[in-house]
Amino acid sequence: MDIPRIFTISESAHRIHNPFTAEKLATLGAALRMETGTRILDLGSGSGEMLCTWARDHGICGTGIDLSPLFTQQARQRAEELGVAGRVTFVHGDAAGHVAAQKVGVAACLGATWIGGGVAGTIALLERSLLPGGIVLVGEPYWLRLPSTEDVARSCLAGSIADFRALPALLASFADLGFDVVEMVLADQDSWDRYEAAKWLTMRRWLDANPDDGFAGEVRAKLASEPARHAAFTREYLGWGVFALIAR
Ligand code: SAH
Repeated sequence: MDIPRIFTISESAHRIHNPFTAEKLATLGAALRMETGTRILDLGSGSGEMLCTWARDHGICGTGIDLSPLFTQQARQRAEELGVAGRVTFVHGDAAGHVAAQKVGVAACLGATWIGGGVAGTIALLERSLLPGGIVLVGEPYWLRLPSTEDVARSCLAGSIADFRALPALLASFADLGFDVVEMVLADQDSWDRYEAAKWLTMRRWLDANPDDGFAGEVRAKLASEPARHAAFTREYLGWGVFALIAR
């Protein structure tokens, strides 16, 4: 079980696989006012930066599940590095349908809502692991500017315009699902650059080290096209944020 190779190449040096900086992740951790010992479930935990830094900074404990063996390994290493390996556990596996054996105070899915078949399905899945009054955390893109054509949406790497909403509509959709939106931290163009532009140097270094790899052509093409695509589309049209929800 693994994710497509382009991600484990282009994002191998990322600690956060989303348009969030370490500062924004720390802002979110503080904003949630979690008590020491709060248990967190993280579906699509990537390289574990959220659980590891929040365990260090707020004394939370938790479990992350991720489909990438590489990212899961990096998460375990990060936990050792930060001295929190006793508080956080990282499991390699498919998080689809995963419900925690022991209910949690915070159930999260940041930038991987396909795991539950979309935002609504992922919120419903997370809720099954949640203690009464617990917080659902969802990280999701939204349209900063509505694309004028479907081609523009596809250039933002969306399947279609309908894949995402504008921010007010996204917030309203959480209310329609029966949740209060109790906090949010949003990405900005600089944090998008940290996510996207960091891939370019990683791809270039990978190409220098693996010139004869069968995948090199694909990586080379991506490196050549991504900077201009990002500048023209993702950076201009797409927002991203993490939204904290509590059931009404
Ligand atoms: N939440 C992390 C990672 C976001 S990137 C962060 O913010 O850094 C999306 C992650 O979802 C990747 O790590 C990918 O490996 C993982 N993923 C994709 N499909 C998955 C699935 N079915 N089950 C678990 N993890 C999945």
